[in-house]
Amino acid sequence: MAEQQWRDAGVIPPDEGERILGGIIDYYAENRGPRLMHPDWLEAAEKKLAELEKRTGKKPNFLVYILDDVGWGDFGCYGGGHLRGAPTPNFDRLAADGLRLTSCYSQPSCSPSRATLMTGRLPIRHGILTPPMYGQPGGLQDEVTLPELLSKAGYATRAVGKWHCGENAESVPQNKGFDEFYGFYGVSDMYTEWRDNYFYPEIVNDPLIFNAVMNAKFNKHNILAKAGQFDTPEIEQEEIDLETVKDLDEKWADYSEKFIRMMAGSNKPWFLYHGTRGCHFDNYPPDKFKGKSRAKYPFHDVLVEMDDIFGRLFTTLEETGQLENTLIFVTSDNGPEMESWPDSSYTPFRGSKGTTWEGGIRIPGIFFWKGMIEAGRASDGLFDFCDIFPTFCALAGVEDLPQDRFIDGVDQRAFLLAESAPEGTHWAVDPAWMSNRLAVHAWLLDQHSAVRVGPWKLVLVATEMDHRDTVTPGGFSGHTVKYTYGKNFNLFLDPKEEHSFTIRKLVYIPLIGSVQGAHLKTFHKYPPRIQVKGGETV
Ligand code: CA
Repeated sequence: MAEQQWRDAGVIPPDEGERILGGIIDYYAENRGPRLMHPDWLEAAEKKLAELEKRTGKKPNFLVYILDDVGWGDFGCYGGGHLRGAPTPNFDRLAADGLRLTSCYSQPSCSPSRATLMTGRLPIRHGILTPPMYGQPGGLQDEVTLPELLSKAGYATRAVGKWHCGENAESVPQNKGFDEFYGFYGVSDMYTEWRDNYFYPEIVNDPLIFNAVMNAKFNKHNILAKAGQFDTPEIEQEEIDLETVKDLDEKWADYSEKFIRMMAGSNKPWFLYHGTRGCHFDNYPPDKFKGKSRAKYPFHDVLVEMDDIFGRLFTTLEETGQLENTLIFVTSDNGPEMESWPDSSYTPFRGSKGTTWEGGIRIPGIFFWKGMIEAGRASDGLFDFCDIFPTFCALAGVEDLPQDRFIDGVDQRAFLLAESAPEGTHWAVDPAWMSNRLAVHAWLLDQHSAVRVGPWKLVLVATEMDHRDTVTPGGFSGHTVKYTYGKNFNLFLDPKEEHSFTIRKLVYIPLIGSVQGAHLKTFHKYPPRIQVKGGETV
């Protein structure tokens, strides 16, 4: 029935599907997006996984190391590093020994991305369309999260660092599946910008306004809380200000390092979600890293620090003999924030954070798993943050994914563990070009903005930049435009999305349009849900 519905919806006409993709599209459940089946890869992956489990006696551990506002091009292995005056040897080594994704997608900003990673659902479904700021209500309270499911399956779970998926009691990490949380609830600039005389002299030097912000209802502390603890003074560590902010990442690194060491002797598998403070604006490097980058700018010094901290965690895994049983994912939550230049990151693509142009949502993504993921692979196969949820669940043996809601993520185990294809393999079944994901759907707040299939990206709604009325123009400064006929870009020919092929390549419009149509049709049964959108909270 489900298959027929997808075919009726015209995702790909059956004949075309057979011809183009060798019949590998799988329409397997009404509440799931279509997946690309690669039966050979999956069989080989399941065999490797079974052998590993036999050796270790447990399911694999997961380390997610997620940076903040670091662009696609910042790491050396993506063209940055020395080019940016900020070498990243640890990230580069990880990519050289693992899988470097060139088409890994987040959402346009922090909270929508992080909530998507936690739920396997696009923002238009989990409802966090924009980051909740300064105590603004709204969060993950109604969602089923990855750590909740892993926890039920016997995992030890920790969230460290930046959360930003809601500050209410029901949405904080220690109440959303994590055994313990050490970090802050919001985002770095919420704790510092109004304290900094350089950016906000009108607040710093006006006691009335300064006190008003001080008394605003959002937690200003570094938090250390066990599951169930909330709103008690004992969980509040130091207040975050212009001095204490400098050392947060180092403290969080110490905590994660200790956790990894502690788990070495445990028979429980674990999930460590480590969200860094760096390199979100504004960056205040600790003394140890101040001026350590060749560029000498705060963003760059902190990027060097983030690389160093990741190196420490990696070494700890190595020293404690856990590398073979730990899947590592290093990424960033969105493209560069350009309103904060020069404290901002880099992308070779069009647009920046806040937009659905490639610059806003295409981010670095490195997977590493010693002995399991082939070293030195790179792939342009599509990977979306929502895929983490079903992929990790499948690896952990969690089978009871929610049935009462739509899950956009697809299980990417087969793709991640696939071996490089022999020369001459058709691209449709070569893991260098294809993953388990058919398409990436980009939403600009509550509007369907674009869909990417292969190298083609059909853009219907997008952000156009305003340059005359902003201090430093960027992705949040523009206005939304709806293109009359849509723009169609070939990202291989035109990574910057500057030359639309819509009329010259009309044959693609019905094909890509049918994928879009099927996606939109899912909202008939599973309507959009909006919780946080700009200044509005629903
Ligand atoms: Ca971010």
